[in-house]
Amino acid sequence: AKELGKNNYYLYNPMLEKESYEKLKIQNELYKALEAEQFILYYQPKIDIASKQLVGVEALLRWQHPKGMVPPMKFISILEETGLIIPIGEWILREACRQNKSWQDQGYPPISISVNLSTRQFYQQNLISMVSSILAETGMSAKYLELEITESMTMDVDLASNILHELKELGVKVSIDDFGTGYSSLYYLKKFPIDGLKIDKSFIQDITTSHSDSNIVTTIIDMAHHLGLRVIAEGVETTEQLQFLEDNHCDEAQGYLFSPPLPANGSGHDSKSIEAF
Ligand code: C2E
Ligand code: CA
Ligand code: CA
Ligand code: CA
Repeated sequence: AKELGKNNYYLYNPMLEKESYEKLKIQNELYKALEAEQFILYYQPKIDIASKQLVGVEALLRWQHPKGMVPPMKFISILEETGLIIPIGEWILREACRQNKSWQDQGYPPISISVNLSTRQFYQQNLISMVSSILAETGMSAKYLELEITESMTMDVDLASNILHELKELGVKVSIDDFGTGYSSLYYLKKFPIDGLKIDKSFIQDITTSHSDSNIVTTIIDMAHHLGLRVIAEGVETTEQLQFLEDNHCDEAQGYLFSPPLPANGSGHDSKSIEAF
């Protein structure tokens, strides 16, 4: 064991050391990344299943490190832990709203823009004033903004409920992301003023081969509809999955079947992720 001050010991673990070194390295680079304009948003289409029309896009953060593209899984949790998610999250929201307004100004039919909120952002003191000033600043109408939150964010029921009501007052929509993977309480779904549920791709993956997964998905869809919520399926990759979702009245779909996330100019390559870290 190595000594870490007076009474604190930890067992030497080369794996742990390698992991924390990697984390520290990423953390240092993240501090510089916003200034260096290494962040970019990619957008993935959301399709209305009945009409097959484009109804929205989800903004997904990408980090263009000089050595290559770093996937969000590698750094979002570090942004959360370090609090960097607050300034970067504000940049994400502003950039997404600016882009959506710009598409509208170019004459494209209006679509909604979905932005992921992390727990820390959801509970940040000035969330409501930040959202409303970004909407004012970019001229993007609140009704086209959808925030995606996760079930774990609604653990503090009273506080979460207040925040959601304030967002609702602004005219912003809110969906529960990764639905089914966290601690869901059906009671909260009824109590919170939310607009939609997004079924996690882990359930969609096997809907055409697994009875339990297809049952879970149809049950979620029925339940959500009884509560007046829209249902979005994430990670739709095959026409069979889409057909199943259509047959079971799922409202919207998103996934590689339609398009991977792409940069706004449509010319980038999302596949060049690196494992360089
Ligand atoms: P998420 O919000 O659940 O986003 C869906 C993820 O599934 C995205 O991964 C997307 O690229 C991927 N995906 C889309 N269609 C398919 C498909 O057909 N098959 C498969 N296998 N995957 C598909 P991505 O972009 O790597 O993002 C991972 C996670 O990182 C997101 O999961 C979200 O939790 C987080 N994240 C991404 N951007 C942001 C952001 O701007 N802010 C915050 N707070 N979190 C973000
Ligand atoms: Ca999401
Ligand atoms: Ca998900
Ligand atoms: Ca998520």
